[in-house]
Amino acid sequence: MLLIGSHVGMSGKEMFLGSVKEALSYNANTFMVYTGAPQNTRRKELSELRIPEARALMREEGITQFIVHAPYIINLANAVNPSTFELAVEFLEKEITRSAGMGSHILVLHPGSHVGEGKDTGIRKITEGLNKILTADTPVHIALETMAGKGSEIGSTFEELAEIYEKTVHSEKLKVCMDTCHMHDAGYDVIHNFDGILTEFDKLLGISRIAAIHLNDSKNPQGSRKDRHANLGDGYIGFEALSRIAHHPALSDIPKILETPYIPLADDPDKKVPPYREEIARLRDAG
Ligand code: FE
Ligand code: FE
Ligand code: ZN
Repeated sequence: MLLIGSHVGMSGKEMFLGSVKEALSYNANTFMVYTGAPQNTRRKELSELRIPEARALMREEGITQFIVHAPYIINLANAVNPSTFELAVEFLEKEITRSAGMGSHILVLHPGSHVGEGKDTGIRKITEGLNKILTADTPVHIALETMAGKGSEIGSTFEELAEIYEKTVHSEKLKVCMDTCHMHDAGYDVIHNFDGILTEFDKLLGISRIAAIHLNDSKNPQGSRKDRHANLGDGYIGFEALSRIAHHPALSDIPKILETPYIPLADDPDKKVPPYREEIARLRDAG
């Protein structure tokens, strides 16, 4: 069965229980959650997240896996500002504990941006951080996300991800999250050559290293390095190619997560609604 969901929120009184309810409202059988606002690092204690109730509801409804996404302000590649790097290391250590406590084995992380110091320095900094964070006992996998290559982002090629992997001592704790919008924006031909991409990935990192797929269309042409997500079928990748990826037999056990934009209501354009219920239904129908 297609393993499909979207990113969902975690806030208010219901916290993680609310995240599971939101996923169920989209008819999802998996989901991705940020442990707080994606743009800051303020987080609640595990005991306040209503984890037992959330887990019970997941069990009842047959949701067996979900993933956590680290906030995108975390930047392990920053060699310019030591406090940014230290904050990233500290935060990730706690985020690993939170993810495991919530019951996820996968923590998605943007590798980072070198902010002008060059790729080699950025990669050195990332691996320095990962080597501080990861031990033989780390209870989750960190899934490095494939990036669009916007600004000074690291991780827009499989070669860069492979280099991080090679320089990380506990690389058995590393996985990859493939984002279709990002790969397309980075120059990969996800429309006509997804199998070729998988072959290339397999050579450099190994297919078994794929932990999640972010399924997004792109508002820009291939290679634009922009990172602007579009709703499925409304962008340059198109529904057919994305559906083929969602239903790809080599990826059937891997969660597919939608991060497509909310849609403004026709009669009240200031109000935006999540597209996930419809996008999930459409993908299932196409299978
Ligand atoms: Fe991401
Ligand atoms: Fe993504
Ligand atoms: Zn993105």
